[in-house]
Amino acid sequence: MGTEPTDVLRERGLRVTAQRLAVLRAVSKAPHATAGGVVRTVRDELGAVSVQAVYDVLEILTEKGLLRRIQPAGSPARYEDRVGDNHHHLICRVCDRMVDVDCAAGEPPCLTAAEDFGFEIDEAEIVYWGRCPDCVERPAKGTA
Ligand SMILES: [Zn+2]
Ligand SMILES: [Zn+2]
Ligand SMILES: [Zn+2]
Repeated sequence: MGTEPTDVLRERGLRVTAQRLAVLRAVSKAPHATAGGVVRTVRDELGAVSVQAVYDVLEILTEKGLLRRIQPAGSPARYEDRVGDNHHHLICRVCDRMVDVDCAAGEPPCLTAAEDFGFEIDEAEIVYWGRCPDCVERPAKGTA
């Protein structure tokens, strides 16, 4: 598997376009970016690009497995290009910072259900929520 964005697109049978390359570069530069963040980076590089166009590119790149979408409960979806493993995320409840953490178990599903009810289980969705070191040190304002 190639590492150049151009090769990566071709290997998945995708046409190479300036927008797709710019989106891949934006996500690899800023992992866990929101769609809005990707739009800003792509516009810096290419000029006028519609929000819908960037969303469409994110959608197809995710569908083809070039990007992974993380959808934390109650916060906007984020995108990353670290797709080859079963890693998880730590998210700070205060500042929304998101950090990769390797899976302790390795292969999915990393947690065994107490009872599988006959389901063929292939994934346990794991997100670790808490406060990052900066926010632990800086007591939240306005709370007693
Ligand atoms: Zn924080
Ligand atoms: Zn990640
Ligand atoms: Zn795991």
